[in-house]
Amino acid sequence: MKKCEHVTKHLFITGGVVSSLGKGITAASIALLLKRRGYRVQIQKLDPYVNVDPGTMSPYEHGEVFVTDDGAETDLDLGHYERFADVSCRRESNYTTGRIYQTVIERERRGDYLGKTVQVIPHITDEIKNAIRVLDGPEVDIAITEIGGTVGDIESLPFLEAIRQYRQEIGSRNGLFIHLTLVPYIRAAQEMKTKPSQQSVGILREIGIIPDILICRCERPLEEEHLRKLSLFCNVSRELVIQEIDVARTIYEVPIELARQELDTYLLELLDLHVRDLQLDDWVAFVDRVVAPKARHCEIAVVGKYTGLRDAYKSIYEALDHGAIANDLELTVRPVEATEIEAKGADAVLAGVDGILVPGGFGVRGIEGKILAATHARERTIPFLGICLGMQCAVIEFARNVCGIAGANSQEFDPEGPAHVIHLMEEQKAVRNLGGTMRLGAWPCDLRENTRAAAAYAGRHIAERHRHRYEVNTDYRSRFEEAGMIFSGTSPDGALVEMVELRNHPWFVACQFHPEFRSRPLKAHPLFRDFVAASGGLLASAPDGDGGQVRAPRSAPRRTGTGTRT
Ligand code: GLN
Repeated sequence: MKKCEHVTKHLFITGGVVSSLGKGITAASIALLLKRRGYRVQIQKLDPYVNVDPGTMSPYEHGEVFVTDDGAETDLDLGHYERFADVSCRRESNYTTGRIYQTVIERERRGDYLGKTVQVIPHITDEIKNAIRVLDGPEVDIAITEIGGTVGDIESLPFLEAIRQYRQEIGSRNGLFIHLTLVPYIRAAQEMKTKPSQQSVGILREIGIIPDILICRCERPLEEEHLRKLSLFCNVSRELVIQEIDVARTIYEVPIELARQELDTYLLELLDLHVRDLQLDDWVAFVDRVVAPKARHCEIAVVGKYTGLRDAYKSIYEALDHGAIANDLELTVRPVEATEIEAKGADAVLAGVDGILVPGGFGVRGIEGKILAATHARERTIPFLGICLGMQCAVIEFARNVCGIAGANSQEFDPEGPAHVIHLMEEQKAVRNLGGTMRLGAWPCDLRENTRAAAAYAGRHIAERHRHRYEVNTDYRSRFEEAGMIFSGTSPDGALVEMVELRNHPWFVACQFHPEFRSRPLKAHPLFRDFVAASGGLLASAPDGDGGQVRAPRSAPRRTGTGTRT
């Protein structure tokens, strides 16, 4: 008998009518459901903008830059993929128009197309198909490709043409088109409107794509009449018109909602795949926990400079939520503009907070406010978590105010300054191009025994994701240590300082890496879990030994379920 060859099946997800429909969350939810049906899933995003990657874009422009283990600077939707489906994304999980063109142009310069005119069709579309094909392989059952932007955008056209061709080549049993659209509610008319969806499906049809599944984002439930209308005019069977109603409580409810309408079952049937049991109990239990009323509350300030835009610190906010859920705490996040602390003082702006987090960032604006926030946390013994730039600010503040090093600063903010306690990494000195040249991706780090860091991770060897050019200047190391700063994490060769913490403080921990990228709903990141616990008064410090190993006080509720140490 002929052996059945493994085929990777493909799902292509497009969005219509408006942007910000939550395509990333929908794609991530589908990935989660298929994974929980026992399939091996890979997921990627193709972004039609021209930047080679989002690494040089402002968070205001694009939201957070999500960093993968293999050091790619990518779209924040990859954060949703990792958090929902617990997959590990990689460089191949995100392509842009810029990156596709870069490859084609390099090839043209090499002479690979000698004699030919290089054109959008077929050369650019072929390269997009190569980017999709990267996901194929015996270890992948289902590959999900999300197309960024909105159908009808000029820049999306080559991507839509590429997925049209791709599916034509693999056949309708091996590839499906899912279109996410908006069904708005017009308050004045008190009506839901299906016309925008019909029009957006019309645009797709003009370029040869007929969606197999329509997912309708809506504010309120659709009536049978709307569902039939959408089915009829969009050429999609009635049961494949799915509603995705705004979730009131948490985005982690979306997969449960989609499963309730059996989206995953239909997908598997259409792809000729066996419908295995869905294992979603832990996820449902997690969502129950998220929405359950909590006995204790805590408030954490996030002191940054893009606080007006939630997406700018997406993974930070998510990781804080994971930490709060792991500790059964009701969490309020107070976004604080660092410049406001400069203007009004830390006492006024940070009054009443239980914990202070200073996230990563670039550029001098707001630096002094972040430094003041670190001083405030140290002096008032408020739990503190510094991340990347946040750690650098904590080191600068310690140098200035505890070690008395006048003019201590980072070389980034005061290039001619007298005391660069943070300086450019050796390997960065020759760097000229700014795109993709930072110290990026997962690097190993060794933790010192008997520190808060080692207690959180319950281990001594970790790897975390980085994105920076500057580092702690180890010339100052002994002065810092004598004054009470503990270097609790270093690169295995001891050359780079990756984590610091303070003696004689309940919980003051900072890291050069970005722990937020590795936090998962069912597995809160240990640093976020302990930081939130300390902020909520659930961790007590017993400053014995080196770093004052942290132990939970007897009265602290036992942690169960998510985020417990393993
Ligand atoms: N600007 C700092 C550096 O490049 C910090 C970077 C960050 O916070 N991601 O080192």
